[in-house]
Amino acid sequence: MADFYQILGVDRNATQDEIKGAFRRLAREHHPDVRKDDPKANERFKEINEAYQVLSDPQRRAQYDRFGTVQHVPADDVPGGGFGPFDDIFDIFFGRRAAGVDRDAPEAGADLRYDLELSLEETSTGVEKTIEIERLETCPRCFGTGAERGSAPEQCPTCGGRGEVRRSQRTVFGSFMQISTCRTCGGTGTVLRDPCTQCRGSGRAAAKRTVTVSIPPGVDSGMRLRIAGEGEAGLRSGPRGDLYVFIHLRPHPVFQRQGKDLYCTVPITIYQAALGDDIEVPTLEGPITRTVSAGAQPGTVITVKGKGMPDARGNRGDLHVRLDVRVPTDLTDEERTLLRQLATLRGLSMKPQRRKKIADKVKDILQ
Ligand SMILES: [Zn+2]
Ligand SMILES: [Zn+2]
Repeated sequence: MADFYQILGVDRNATQDEIKGAFRRLAREHHPDVRKDDPKANERFKEINEAYQVLSDPQRRAQYDRFGTVQHVPADDVPGGGFGPFDDIFDIFFGRRAAGVDRDAPEAGADLRYDLELSLEETSTGVEKTIEIERLETCPRCFGTGAERGSAPEQCPTCGGRGEVRRSQRTVFGSFMQISTCRTCGGTGTVLRDPCTQCRGSGRAAAKRTVTVSIPPGVDSGMRLRIAGEGEAGLRSGPRGDLYVFIHLRPHPVFQRQGKDLYCTVPITIYQAALGDDIEVPTLEGPITRTVSAGAQPGTVITVKGKGMPDARGNRGDLHVRLDVRVPTDLTDEERTLLRQLATLRGLSMKPQRRKKIADKVKDILQ
């Protein structure tokens, strides 16, 4: 007989928690559904299960420790049954105890997530988007029953459709009723003699669907829209899940957004800054004219009221235009002379500086 401790990879003094932990890890790893391509997975899985059934039961473990073997007793035949391997697996994969859960009850479909990238213009005006999602739909062949055409789910012969099996357990303290999930039907109360060929009996099948999503004006990165009833189909006439559209704002070449307000930078010349001028300012609806007052400094901000982003009530934020005063780098000889004269008028004594020859520039770099 194989060493159960070795199979689970625990030592002989392992606690129940350690045994349970090791089993869960191994069961996940070796579950035949996970390792479809491995023909030995089923065998290995059974081994792991058997080891766990013995070591998780203090009495059977003690027996095994003493005699190195246990009488093999199928869980079903043990008075009071106890939880068989199926229940333990169910517990692991679905995070709940199998017995006592009404598996016949309708189950809601899963929610879905879709990440949608939008331009600033789209979030400003609102937009209708058609997106394609893949989701589980009620199988069109069997209408969700899981049974092939011409057949129907039949009442489970083991439990008579109740989904659970009751056994009375007699002990020195009296009789107890032990209720466990029916293994034949997995608790659904029905069995499929002839499963649907399209969904293989699950009642649902993956399908591509297009969904039109109406994006209201003003949405921003990090927001999500809930589209009720556009998630996956439910089981046994359960409600559909919801679709959550997560909004991501694409960076804009001109505007940066901060909440309701927009920011941009507009270059102006030193002449415009010194003398004042009317300049063109970009907005989401096209350029408008604004006045730069004489003596504007680099970094001066012109605020255009109501040209930001809308909020949920339709009120718009502001647009903040930062002036970037650009110093010319391509002066002609004439401009240079004039600027020098201006400097002289200001009482500045400027060091005469001739245009650098290429040889001098090279020298600058080498220094
Ligand atoms: Zn089907
Ligand atoms: Zn049954």
